[in-house]
Amino acid sequence: MEIIADMHVHSKFSVDGKDNLMAMCQAAIEKGVKYICFTEHFDMNPKDRGYGYFNFEKFSEAIDSAKNKFGDSLYILKGLEFSEPHLHPEEFEEMVRKDFDVMIGSVHWLGGFIVGQKELEEKFTKEEIFKKYYREVLRATKFGGFDILAHLDFPKRYLKQSYNEWNLVDEILSELTKSDIALEINTSPLRKGLNECSPDKELLERYIKHKGSRVSIGSDAHSSLDIGEGFAYAEDLTKRNNKIKVGIFQQRKFVSIDEER
Ligand SMILES: [Zn+2]
Ligand SMILES: [Zn+2]
Repeated sequence: MEIIADMHVHSKFSVDGKDNLMAMCQAAIEKGVKYICFTEHFDMNPKDRGYGYFNFEKFSEAIDSAKNKFGDSLYILKGLEFSEPHLHPEEFEEMVRKDFDVMIGSVHWLGGFIVGQKELEEKFTKEEIFKKYYREVLRATKFGGFDILAHLDFPKRYLKQSYNEWNLVDEILSELTKSDIALEINTSPLRKGLNECSPDKELLERYIKHKGSRVSIGSDAHSSLDIGEGFAYAEDLTKRNNKIKVGIFQQRKFVSIDEER
């Protein structure tokens, strides 16, 4: 059986989303997905092309209409992917007070560079990029207040390899456990020429060693086509260890879906 909850997708309410929310719900139903969570980008870095793009009111209206239209066949969740929450505490607090089902915390920017940007790779070695990334994720995680940590080893998506700085990784994982923040298994690297998720087996096992158990699965789809992609792989990955609980967030509370899988 496949995982039925895609907890990380972007519609046109994100600057880089390709499809509208209604079309994505329709596609999710056709793919057999039961739970879909729209986690639109919220970026406060002025250099980000999504800066100031997200419109909460319009997004809320679209979520409500989608629930009216598809509510019988699809469970629609309302989320947000907040970039670098620790750097924008006021805006983060403002968003946290709204009626989201889930807040995803993520790191995309390292100072003035976005991960994936050519200039970053010209300036720093791959190893340095990973170190910088993990340091920033650690800061975000210590700040906390969100429910899921997105794509823990994100630079892998662009650098096509990993450098695991174990001291930093261990600190991040122990913070997650302490703060009850779930770890996301992001399947998007599978669509970018890699044969693994972000994170994959090694980091997941480490998370379990730190007594972590809560996991959410997200495709990070930016179009209908990619919803639920790579979920058979993620299913195998999470079934390896019975300490892992796969779940969704509903009104900011973790709910295991293991019984339904
Ligand atoms: Zn992201
Ligand atoms: Zn995303």
